[in-house]
Amino acid sequence: MRLSRFFLPILKENPKEAEIVSHRLMLRAGMMRQEAAGIYAWLPLGFRVLKKIEQIVREEQDRAGALELLMPTLQLADLWRESGRYDAYGPEMLRIADRHKRELLYGPTNEEMITEIFRAYVKSYRNLPLNLYHIQWKFRDEQRPRFGVMRGREFLMKDAYSFDIDEAAARRSYNRMFVAYLRTFARMGLKAIPMRAETGPIGGDLSHEFIVLAETGESGVFCNSDVLNLPIPPDDVDYDGDLTDIIKQWTSVYAATEDVHDAARYEREVPADKRVNTRGIEVGQIFYFGTKYSDAMKALVAGPDGVDVPIHGGSYGVGVSRLVGAIIEACHDDAGIKWPEAVAPFTAVILNLKQGDAAVDGACEKLYRELQAKDVDVLYDDTDQRAGAKFAAADLIGIPWQILVGPKGLAEGKLEIKRRSDGARENLSPVEVVAKIA
Ligand code: ATP
Ligand code: MG
Ligand code: MG
Ligand code: MG
Repeated sequence: MRLSRFFLPILKENPKEAEIVSHRLMLRAGMMRQEAAGIYAWLPLGFRVLKKIEQIVREEQDRAGALELLMPTLQLADLWRESGRYDAYGPEMLRIADRHKRELLYGPTNEEMITEIFRAYVKSYRNLPLNLYHIQWKFRDEQRPRFGVMRGREFLMKDAYSFDIDEAAARRSYNRMFVAYLRTFARMGLKAIPMRAETGPIGGDLSHEFIVLAETGESGVFCNSDVLNLPIPPDDVDYDGDLTDIIKQWTSVYAATEDVHDAARYEREVPADKRVNTRGIEVGQIFYFGTKYSDAMKALVAGPDGVDVPIHGGSYGVGVSRLVGAIIEACHDDAGIKWPEAVAPFTAVILNLKQGDAAVDGACEKLYRELQAKDVDVLYDDTDQRAGAKFAAADLIGIPWQILVGPKGLAEGKLEIKRRSDGARENLSPVEVVAKIA
């Protein structure tokens, strides 16, 4: 992508409305624009990041055996009356009427709809286990939308729903999602710690929140620092095998949100020098809720003995749009964002330090073509801004590799490459630059 043809409305001033760094940087880097309280338009740079995060989430759900579908954003109120949640949900639910005065709502979550789909087709234990997910916009009329996309009213969520014949099987489904979440967040360059959590309005009795530690987070958390260094399951983890050892390893070290924190146990189990009491950002949550929805909505399947039983369910959410902000909270410095490569909007940016100089232009064009030929997501700053402004913009938008092309280096056949994460610089030939990045 040529920057001269891209849409990157960078702001010079710090936006006053932004209270935390990720919100500030997303606005300054021209990633998104607020259209109403908690409702955002994703501009091209931000949209590229959102798509990369979404794709990692999708790949790890698929790897764990979940199946993608797509449910609508609008749902019938009557469906929610079946579970009793239409009245229980309260003012967070956006309620809408169509021209025939039928009551609809913009889905804040999809337990009811997926249960309706399930019960229409699945009648036997032989079709289980089943895990269905979608990545779809949700609406919750939050009392205090704030921190930009981290607490929006309209936001993108991945939500998966598992169906099993009994509790033991449902726990295996839960464990698969637990492991998939460990991998998902690690691939994005995040340390997201599974912590015991309250089940809230979803209901049920087993739940973990995945939390990124950050002072600006909205949840208070307590954990043993050992949990920060546990190994992430590898990409060939056997989801059909026994995952209980991995789960045990992660859940035997103390980690809990403040809602379920057990101070006595914490003090008993965690040595004083390993106690971490801080704040965190909830980027995902998994629930096992048993037969809560299948009882209410009559989602029954025939067991091996032919008798109909309500299925055991779980639901598993990831805050896809919140993750964009959470990653920035974890990866930035005073100059701007430092994207982990896996979610970066572009992998590399070429900075032409003397636009209009035939040799420099030629070297940039050649490098640009070669990186594209190797499928590198490359941005080429071919604008006529002065070098200082190009450096500042590149630091702000956080592209992992900056390639500086100027007349001095070129005279010696060299380009300068700067790694955004730690500022490390190296002088390399164009061939070496391509080999390093591609
Ligand atoms: P929170 O405690 O932050 O209000 P939640 O517990 O209500 O979140 P869940 O119902 O568990 O949210 O939804 C799954 C995921 O969706 C959350 O873990 C979070 O990452 C994301 N999410 C929830 N509410 C919002 C929101 N208002 N804006 C952006 N993401 C959200
Ligand atoms: Mg909430
Ligand atoms: Mg929560
Ligand atoms: Mg939650």
